[in-house]
Amino acid sequence: MSKLQRLFINTAVKRTTYAPDKLEDFIDTINSRLQPMFMQIRKGMSENNGLQYYALVNMAETDITRMSSDYADNELELFRKTLDLIVCSENGKASSTDILNSTDSMTTRKMKKSETEHLLSRLVHDKWLSEKRGEYTLSTRCIIEMEPYIRTMYQDHIKVCHICRNIAFQCQICENPTCGIKIHNPCVARYFKGKSEPRCPSCDDFWPHEIPEVKRPHSQSRR
Ligand SMILES: [Zn+2]
Ligand SMILES: [Zn+2]
Repeated sequence: MSKLQRLFINTAVKRTTYAPDKLEDFIDTINSRLQPMFMQIRKGMSENNGLQYYALVNMAETDITRMSSDYADNELELFRKTLDLIVCSENGKASSTDILNSTDSMTTRKMKKSETEHLLSRLVHDKWLSEKRGEYTLSTRCIIEMEPYIRTMYQDHIKVCHICRNIAFQCQICENPTCGIKIHNPCVARYFKGKSEPRCPSCDDFWPHEIPEVKRPHSQSRR
């Protein structure tokens, strides 16, 4: 972010009074002031804990090229392949093995195993990806910043959550083949809380998945 951009944002924020119950209005006001700079504060939900996060997004660059100052061409190619694996999977995850195997079909300079592992840890450090037990998911930052790009590139693959209407990657899916709606895990937890026999909110079939617990907000600092 340039000095001028930072100054502009500071001024936009300072000039806006904020009442805690009017957060959405506050964000709208700031966004109208940020618009001339093609910047926007966008809201997104963590697919892990269901908490809302806000990110300042440069709307002039919503695709992967925004990362080109930090990553080489072949690294971006591998990130694209990782996005393909995650977005086109059923559960919103890609295993490290699948990512390593996808280096075989690289068209730019092919990456060695150690280079790939180093890149993946950088992507996690920079909060584009999250990792748990060798499985990679899109981080909240990535979902908020890349959503316009993902919606354009993967039109046929993406689905929105039936409850919150946000794009859904890590989620549960209705097993009725004529229904197949997706619900985020935290949205499942909230929606089915206290219901003795969970049924799909769309087709009313029995919901056969394990219902996760509603997570407490003490995990707020985690992404
Ligand atoms: Zn949801
Ligand atoms: Zn259903």
